[in-house]
Amino acid sequence: MIELLSPAELPRARAAGALVADILTSLRSRSTVGTNLLDVDRWAREMIDAAGALSCYVDYAPSFGRGPFGHHVCTSVNDAVLHGLPHDYALADGDLLSLDLAVSLGGIVADSAVSFVVGGARPPESLAMIAATERALGAGIAAAGPGVRLGDVSHAIGTVLTGAGYRVNTEFGGHGVGSTMHQDPHVSNTGRPGRGYRLRPGLLLALEPWVMADTADLVTDPDGWTLRSATGCRTAHSEHTIAITEDGAEVLTAPSPAPRPATAPPRR
Ligand code: MG
Ligand code: MG
Repeated sequence: MIELLSPAELPRARAAGALVADILTSLRSRSTVGTNLLDVDRWAREMIDAAGALSCYVDYAPSFGRGPFGHHVCTSVNDAVLHGLPHDYALADGDLLSLDLAVSLGGIVADSAVSFVVGGARPPESLAMIAATERALGAGIAAAGPGVRLGDVSHAIGTVLTGAGYRVNTEFGGHGVGSTMHQDPHVSNTGRPGRGYRLRPGLLLALEPWVMADTADLVTDPDGWTLRSATGCRTAHSEHTIAITEDGAEVLTAPSPAPRPATAPPRR
């Protein structure tokens, strides 16, 4: 079933999206060399609780996972790309960390993911891979709007990924969002233009391009959750929740601009 939000519900979706964006921004800034993934998870829980929101992950128990996820944020490091189960690991300089967060606020879910390199190292291949997923996400958002076919969005995402030299895995992709985290329609990261569901105002979509450096094949970690590249290569993942509006597509999980200082700096 495809859920459509009424215009009156859109402010609640914006609030959920802003919360996810704020928490991810905070987690990203606190994820430095030596940070333990279990602390990242604890910070996520504290911020979700403080906002009066609900984690979409704690009780999440799909057929492809092992029991309830039991944590509040996905922490995927290097060859891990999706569903990274937080565990006792201290981040090292140059690690590629993907954080994926979905919460429900006011009965509406927002879902977003960000990838970045920890510390001062700047591994070019990792940065290029992250940039490709961000460009693909931007292309998907730019393609989305009322009357557009789902295949147009998938095609826009996939064209960027394959154009950057990556193969696209079609097992996992984006999805509808609403009162629950994973809804129809599935949003493949590759597709044919002009095909599929016609987007309508009120639809929320999580677009989430992800790639692995030299493979399209996944393996499941012994933890039963974390999905890793089959070759051990690095991976990247970017995700936003968007709302289809009468005018186009609105990004609900975009980070807010840097806060202005409370007082103006002294003039010289
Ligand atoms: Mg997500
Ligand atoms: Mg998602």
